[in-house]
Amino acid sequence: MSFTLHGIGASAGIAIGRAHLATPSRVEVAHYVLPENLIDSELDRFQKAVEQTREELRALRAQIPPHAPAELPAFLDMHLLILDDNMIDEEPKRLIREQRCNAEWALTQQMEALVARFNEIEDAYLRSRQEDVVQVVQRVLKTLVGHPGTAVPETTAEECVLVAHELTPADMILFKNTKFAAFITDLGGATSHTAILARSLGIPSVMALHQARNLIRDHEWIIVDGREGVVVVDPDEKVLAEYRAKQAKWRQETEKLRRITTSRAVTMDGVIIELFANIELQQDMPAVKEVGAQGIGLFRSEFLFLNRDDLPSEDEQFETYRNVVENMDGKPVTIRTLDLGADKQAPWGHTVADNPALGLRAIRLCLAEPKLFEAQLRAILRASAHGKARVLIPMLGSFTELRATLQMIENLKQELRERKIKFDENIQIGGMVEVPAAALLAEQFARHLDFLSIGTNDLIQYTLAIDRADDAVAHLYDPLHPAVLTLIQHTIQSGNKAGKPVAVCGEMAGDPRLTRLLLGLGLRHFSMQPASILAVKQQVMRSSISEVTDLARRMVKNIDPDKTASLLDKLNA
Ligand code: PEP
Ligand code: MG
Repeated sequence: MSFTLHGIGASAGIAIGRAHLATPSRVEVAHYVLPENLIDSELDRFQKAVEQTREELRALRAQIPPHAPAELPAFLDMHLLILDDNMIDEEPKRLIREQRCNAEWALTQQMEALVARFNEIEDAYLRSRQEDVVQVVQRVLKTLVGHPGTAVPETTAEECVLVAHELTPADMILFKNTKFAAFITDLGGATSHTAILARSLGIPSVMALHQARNLIRDHEWIIVDGREGVVVVDPDEKVLAEYRAKQAKWRQETEKLRRITTSRAVTMDGVIIELFANIELQQDMPAVKEVGAQGIGLFRSEFLFLNRDDLPSEDEQFETYRNVVENMDGKPVTIRTLDLGADKQAPWGHTVADNPALGLRAIRLCLAEPKLFEAQLRAILRASAHGKARVLIPMLGSFTELRATLQMIENLKQELRERKIKFDENIQIGGMVEVPAAALLAEQFARHLDFLSIGTNDLIQYTLAIDRADDAVAHLYDPLHPAVLTLIQHTIQSGNKAGKPVAVCGEMAGDPRLTRLLLGLGLRHFSMQPASILAVKQQVMRSSISEVTDLARRMVKNIDPDKTASLLDKLNA
């Protein structure tokens, strides 16, 4: 039966594909769709993992000392029985064959189905036996990890739409190599890091659908309209045809934009605008090159720290930063120091606070963990000998934090000099304006820094007291709120007074509907997901600063929400 769901359009574009339901446990394992020609080798891989696990269990059983408690051999016997059961060693093969999912995914799906059945058992003891099933499955999964599958060509999963209750930024990073046609989730806001990553993947996404994970069934056909925030489940032929036409139009428009890849971003009245890219990982570099970005305005370095149990060493970080810096051929690469905490929790370290967005996050965490911070800063300084690396400090709120960070950088420079290790003596240090306190003190902060970068995603969150990842308050998260616009305008003017450049690297910079507004507020430096650069450039090339300034200023002054949309329309007319 066909039905439509409405959510928040998190990443524009139209996708038509079959649903693949994800759950957090599935997300932790590799999760991809196989091309037809790899199905046999995947079945073989699964079979081998089961056999190896069986051998391991038998070996363990044989090694049990004679005086060990009797439960131990019984326990291993039971695990061997579970492993031999068709439900574990046959059913996943059917899923691999029929749904073309990889072995880990098939096995976890089956595990969840079994756990669900166990949960229906009334007898508490029997119900608790589901733990054994889970343990056996985990054992096979571990073995599978040791038998990596054949590399899957990127295009194979093009017709799959991932349907999840919730995806964390760490989950999304795992999907960077797996090309789904779209993502849809029950939870999440438009500027959550998960949404940002969906945009960086350049694929349509709708969030805050609330019941999608419950209402949609595996393999059902769905249409995702990431611009309108609409999901159509089990569409009829007429609706499919309508969306296919929309999809073709969307592709045409994207194709047309490519023609301005090498054009300069200059307004109609001759003002040059800098368009930089935001990246999360080194793997994003081809996308940066493809759209001809003039630099990297935000490298979210914390993604190097996610999905692993250990910490990346200084050398590993150095190699990554150096590769990116060299790849940019002398163009600036702005490495934002670790912004862990809030929705990007590393698996190690501090406990999650009740209110993590206001807790030990970003610069606060770094200053509380000087060894961790020093290793990163040293790695960035070393990379600066190989190109134009810049440092960007996230979530500055007080002068104490700014001074402590600058002092730490000075000390590390001195240490490197003494050790005769090369670095750029004039490396630029910038600060993010994401907390209203920093926006209010922008001029004073700017005098101690080389540049400012406004993180509008957090600035909106902290100014309006709206959790950016919470869909329940997503309707209140408003980039056009006059208080937000006032802080942005004030920051740009403060930078001008201090003679320091100001960029915007939050999502507002990548929204072409807001380009004229930001130009009118005096912004000349933008940094955004590579996928947005060409659309924003087109808007820059169609704008004239002299024509947008007055209206932009009127938007700052306007406190009547009813007039906001019409003012923006006028600005974009
Ligand atoms: C921001 O807050 O606007 C920003 C760019 O940083 P992040 O989205 O990574 O918090
Ligand atoms: Mg931020």
